[in-house]
Amino acid sequence: MIQLIKDLFERYGMARYADHAEAFATLYSELLLVNESMNLTAITDPEGVIVRHFIDSLTVVDKIPQNATVIDVGCGGGFPTLPLAIVRPDLTLTALDSTAKKLTFVDRMAKKLSLRVTTLAARAEEIPAYRESFDVCVSRAVARMHLLTELCLPQIKVGGIFIAMKAQSGEEELREALGGIEKLGGRVVATDAFTLADAGERYLITVEKITPTPAAYPRPWGKIKKKPLS
Ligand code: SAM
Repeated sequence: MIQLIKDLFERYGMARYADHAEAFATLYSELLLVNESMNLTAITDPEGVIVRHFIDSLTVVDKIPQNATVIDVGCGGGFPTLPLAIVRPDLTLTALDSTAKKLTFVDRMAKKLSLRVTTLAARAEEIPAYRESFDVCVSRAVARMHLLTELCLPQIKVGGIFIAMKAQSGEEELREALGGIEKLGGRVVATDAFTLADAGERYLITVEKITPTPAAYPRPWGKIKKKPLS
C-alpha cells in the first residue's frame, strides 16, 4: 500500500508528499475498517481511495496560506480535512458536519495520527459563535454552489477565502451562484479547472470575502433551499 501511495502521488504531481505515505496507509486501513459499520465511503479499492479521496483532497493544498485557520464544511469522513492535516501541520483545522457519528472517525484519526484537527457537530448555518472567524473555508461534495455559499461565506473573516471543490458541473454552478456570492460579501478571484485522470473534471472555485456578510445570512436551511440567493 505504501508503495502504491508513493507511485500515485508521483503520477499526480504530489511526489513531495511521499514522506507521508505511511500516515495515508494508516488512514486507508482505518477508513475501510470503520466503513464496515458506518457509511463513510462508497469507494473502497486502494487506487480509488488514493486518487478520489486523498489526492483529490490535496488538490486544494497550495491555495491555503501558511498557518491558516480552516473550516471544512460538511467534512463527512474527513475529506479534505484529514489529508490536509497530514501534509500541512501548520494549519489549524475545524472539521464540521451535521452528522456527529461521522466525526467520531475524524476524531479517531486525528488522535491516531496526532493531527491538529478539532471536530464540530453542527449545521453550518447554525454556528453564529464561529461567524467571520476563519481564514479559509473549504468544502467538497456538500451542496450546489448557490446553496453552499450561504453555508460557507458567513464563517470567513473579511480578507479570507472560501474554496469550493467541485466536479464537472462547477462552471454551471458558479454562474447560478454569482449573485448570491456578491450579496454575501464575496468576489470570485479564481476558477481552476483540471482533470483528475479518470476521476474526471474538477473545479476549484476561490471566493474572497471583501465585505462582512449582512446579518440576515445565513438563513435557516429550509429558506436557503426554497429560495437560493441569486
Ligand atoms: N466532504 C466529504 C467528502 O467529500 O467526502 C463528505 C461529503 S458528503 C457527500 C456531504 C456531507 O455534508 C455529509 O456528511 C452531510 O452530513 C454534510 N452536510 C450537508 N449539509 C450540511 C450542513 N448544512 N451543515 C453541516 N454539514 C452538512
